[in-house]
Amino acid sequence: TLPDPAARAEIVVDLGAIRRNVRRLRELVSDGPGPGPALMIVVKADAYGHGMVEVARAARQAGAEWLGVATADEALALREAGDTGRILCWLAAPGEDHRATVAADVDTTAYSVTQLDEILEAARTLGRAARVQLKVDTGLSRGGAPRDQWVALFEAARKAEVAGDATVTGVWSHFACSDEPDHPANDAQETAFREALVLAADAGLDPEVRHLSNSAGALLRPSARFDLVRFGLAAYGLSPAPEVVTSEQLGLEPAMTVRARTVMVKDLAPGAGVSYGHTFVADRPMHVALVPMGYGDGIPLHASSRAEVQIGEQRCPVLGRICMDQFVVDAPGSRAGDDVVVFGPGRDGEPTAQDWAEWCGTISYEIVTRIGGRQRRVWV
Ligand code: PLP
Repeated sequence: TLPDPAARAEIVVDLGAIRRNVRRLRELVSDGPGPGPALMIVVKADAYGHGMVEVARAARQAGAEWLGVATADEALALREAGDTGRILCWLAAPGEDHRATVAADVDTTAYSVTQLDEILEAARTLGRAARVQLKVDTGLSRGGAPRDQWVALFEAARKAEVAGDATVTGVWSHFACSDEPDHPANDAQETAFREALVLAADAGLDPEVRHLSNSAGALLRPSARFDLVRFGLAAYGLSPAPEVVTSEQLGLEPAMTVRARTVMVKDLAPGAGVSYGHTFVADRPMHVALVPMGYGDGIPLHASSRAEVQIGEQRCPVLGRICMDQFVVDAPGSRAGDDVVVFGPGRDGEPTAQDWAEWCGTISYEIVTRIGGRQRRVWV
């Protein structure tokens, strides 16, 4: 049953699952005699749609030493919600004013000497040292200093440390292909990262954490765990490399369930077209149900005539186009008001976010992150 029987549709986030996933991930990456790498749980984009503040709290309860976010606004929202632990943010705009993050003791990432200077300016204005992490591009060709600027960035950061304007807490990079363990880019990136670490040491830096791996890197490439691993998707219970390993094989539990109640049912005669464009036409007498969610709630249009939902014991295929607020499913025997599971952990035969990703030609990251908007979200 729905936590709120009157709810049209709702997103249920199991914080117990998040806590168990975080503990499980620590087990998975702590295979040696030492304490293992520190865990950063990535809670950007509203914790991949699961609720940033709630997930952050659960992750801390389960022992996460770090939280990772993209923007300063996200980091500051965590501070406002009372989080006092270590937080790293990594996506600033040119000319951004860093005073609030420096004042809030957020670790901020510099991609370039120019960006480092902007952070230092905030530090000097406030009269305190900024915690800075330096990001090097080892082959993703996204954020981070290109190789020919590594030394300049390291030397500028070291100078700022000596002047008392910064503490360099990290040097890090990000994988491009860690979900494909045999991809040659992984070896190349790890080698480049090790070279960057040597150059950082040559410049006199001794950062608290060196880190390269996201979920797939952390799980599939033990040599790339360094001092810290950054878990996003895996903390939400989804496999970052579903073609290599399933979430079940990893011992992770998908934390998000999307439920609804059918609004109406009806019988269709053969030949009846269903939804916009009549892309599906009944080829037999059918009993269909209307599910009150659509692309305005993050249900992808690409799921049209491909995805399935669960009503009672049966899998019900989506018929025709997903609309903005609703879609039609083939649901023999169902009644208006029946519970629908759009996706969930998969324990009771319902589809998972990974199933939806495959039906829609996307990745589970996008499925969970886009869900939301009008529905109530409940954390259990
Ligand atoms: N680190 C950085 C810099 C990221 O941008 C992300 C998310 O894309 C992550 C870590 C987490 O990645 P994943 O969800 O694959 O674990």
